[in-house]
Amino acid sequence: MDIQQIENETLVPMYAKRDIALVRGEGYYLWDSEGNRYYDFASNYGVNILGHSHPAITNAISQQASTLISCHQSFYNDVRAKYLQKLSEKLPEGLDKVFFCNSGTESVEAAIKFARAATGRSRIIATKRGYHGRTYGALSATADKKYREPYMPLVPDFEHVPYADLEALERSLSEDVAAVILEPVQGESGIYPAPKEYLAGVRAATRKFGALLILDEVQTGFRTGKYFAFEHYDIVPDILCLSKAVANGFPMGLTITSRDVASRLPAGTHGNTFGGNPLACAVALVVLEEIDRGDLLSNAANMGAYLIDRLRSMNSPVVREVRGLGLMIGVELKDRPTKYLRLLQERGFIALPAGATTIRFLPPIVIDQQAIDALIEVFEEVLTAQNFVRS
Ligand SMILES: *Cc1c(COP(=O)(O)O)cnc(C)c1O
Repeated sequence: MDIQQIENETLVPMYAKRDIALVRGEGYYLWDSEGNRYYDFASNYGVNILGHSHPAITNAISQQASTLISCHQSFYNDVRAKYLQKLSEKLPEGLDKVFFCNSGTESVEAAIKFARAATGRSRIIATKRGYHGRTYGALSATADKKYREPYMPLVPDFEHVPYADLEALERSLSEDVAAVILEPVQGESGIYPAPKEYLAGVRAATRKFGALLILDEVQTGFRTGKYFAFEHYDIVPDILCLSKAVANGFPMGLTITSRDVASRLPAGTHGNTFGGNPLACAVALVVLEEIDRGDLLSNAANMGAYLIDRLRSMNSPVVREVRGLGLMIGVELKDRPTKYLRLLQERGFIALPAGATTIRFLPPIVIDQQAIDALIEVFEEVLTAQNFVRS
């Protein structure tokens, strides 16, 4: 069987394909169909937070699969209730009500609908460079022209203001704004952590106009050294979107709102067939248990700081800037990232691009110093191998 040929001939061509077929994983290692081993510094765009083939995850899936896979939310379910109880322990006061779905874009879609329905207003302010997904509502909040233009017209009443510019946001805010939506660390566009005063300012400004604050933590959730990136900023949003890491790669999305927002929603007006299924909930429960058991948020904070430190001390002429929070890290280059990613891959390391010029590292939060040291050794060599000439 020629794996690559079948996929190339049969798939709608929506992805820039990388020329290996991944067939197996264990911990922070992956193997391709030829038997080559890779260090996984991408975790499938941030989903496999506990690494691959984690025994507790495998066990939860097989146990729950042999008990009950689906249970529509018009019925109650024990595993769902147990997960909600555990999740509530992690959430601050002010984020009390959970809506289940199956992906990041769906969690954003629900957030936008909820904000409009709860406020009776239509305008949504998003940010330049923001990424929120590909369904129509989420795409309307996404900034990148490349994703938007082929699918015009989008949902009306969306506007994009520069990120980390509080004055620009304040100029656009008014009493007809339903919500401001942004990522506490912009992910897809290049890893830009929000300055501390900015998010505090956004929180105050949205309150002043009665607009809701939606934080899209689909990528930041469970990865920055705390459960939620907003905990670094001492604020609480009105609506929180989660997805990628919450069930370690099993599809799941969550839209979490305040009691007040939830009470203003007309019952029965949004829904989702697979959302909150016992299989996803069983996996998500184990993710929370394993993070606590292994103190993995501390590991993410420590290893993130270590990786950023090592990257900053590389002192390569190709590197423009290293940015990050916890284990969400970007190395902005003075060059396009593709050939460097390719060289890393050839040497056994999988990383990701972000924006036009950034290499992104989203390793599992079980990563250790040995793996980081191995990466740095190879990355330094890859950056010099290119004979980059300063322009
Ligand atoms: C990945 C991502 C999404 C979209 O998630 P999908 O599961 O691909 O729909 C939305 N928002 C942010 C911040 C993301 O990183």
